[in-house]
Amino acid sequence: MRNVVIIGSGCAGNTAAIYAARANLKPLVVAGHAAGGQLSLTTLVENFPGFPDGVDGPVLVENMKLQAQQFGAEFVHASVVDTDLSQRPFRLNVDGEWIESLTVIVATGASAKWLGLESEQKLIGHGVSSCATCDGFFYRGKKIMVIGGGDSAMEEANFLSRFGSEVTLVHRREEFRASKIMLDRARQNPKIKFLNNTIVEEIYDVSEYLVNGVRLRNNKTGLVWDQRVDGFFLAIGHIPNTKVFKGQIETDAEGYILSKGGARTNIAGVFHAGDVQDRVYRQAVTAAGAGCMAAVEVEKFLEAEGH
Ligand code: NAP
Repeated sequence: MRNVVIIGSGCAGNTAAIYAARANLKPLVVAGHAAGGQLSLTTLVENFPGFPDGVDGPVLVENMKLQAQQFGAEFVHASVVDTDLSQRPFRLNVDGEWIESLTVIVATGASAKWLGLESEQKLIGHGVSSCATCDGFFYRGKKIMVIGGGDSAMEEANFLSRFGSEVTLVHRREEFRASKIMLDRARQNPKIKFLNNTIVEEIYDVSEYLVNGVRLRNNKTGLVWDQRVDGFFLAIGHIPNTKVFKGQIETDAEGYILSKGGARTNIAGVFHAGDVQDRVYRQAVTAAGAGCMAAVEVEKFLEAEGH
């Protein structure tokens, strides 16, 4: 029987583990198959407080893990594949084996959607990014491309126009999902060029391990062409990782956990931390803060029960 199982090992999960371990709760962290979360997909992180020269994303999240382990947190490289949160102790199926816990922190994050091209996957962190706030700064004076037609794409294109010499926004349809105000703002930005009805067929250049261009296709005319690009940003949405809690933890229509205040979910003893609940801020530092909140709430919850 565990005091607390933390599901997820990104910034939120690992910070929750540090706090829970220091509270002597001996947390178990089920790291998941994408251990380290989204930070493990970035390179230099320059906006995490305390690192004036920046810090490598994977190093930052690994250091959090080491810090948690030093205080007694246990990590398993496995995934929660099924859950029974209908009664306590809660039951979690970890790669086929059921374990029991008095409390649970859900820090499973939200995964950025990708196009699915092989070249895209190979160049993540080397010119391909799903986070303009994290990586925009590296493309000062460079040619930037943003993919998507929703509010995120508009927001990211506007943000990136501060850095890039030009921003090309590529959208697969004629009509936009983005709100009028966000779309108008992007349209009025002289640095942003729109390419509608266009899809990305290939990102160059895997052999050089950097992005230097793309192959595009106009899906109305069939025209195919290459275009020079230095930074390639996906803004085609995120998917919160809440499938295994479906029908148990309350979520919104898209699957983000609905907060019941602080780090609480609709189930007493189950807490949320990080991007699995946050569709607004999505930053390493806010996820870390949310992890701290969840662990503090677990501590108080168990204390109130006399554990
Ligand atoms: P979204 O509204 O779901 O838009 C995703 C966009 O990506 C759509 O234009 C979609 O094209 C495109 N797309 C999806 N899969 C694609 C693929 N495989 N290839 C090419 N294009 C693809 O997602 P979002 O923009 O991240 O916004 C999510 C939510 O957050 C929305 O409710 C939004 O309003 C909100 N948000 C608000 C703000 C703000 O108000 N400041 C900022 C960001 C986000 P189709 O249109 O063709 O499907």
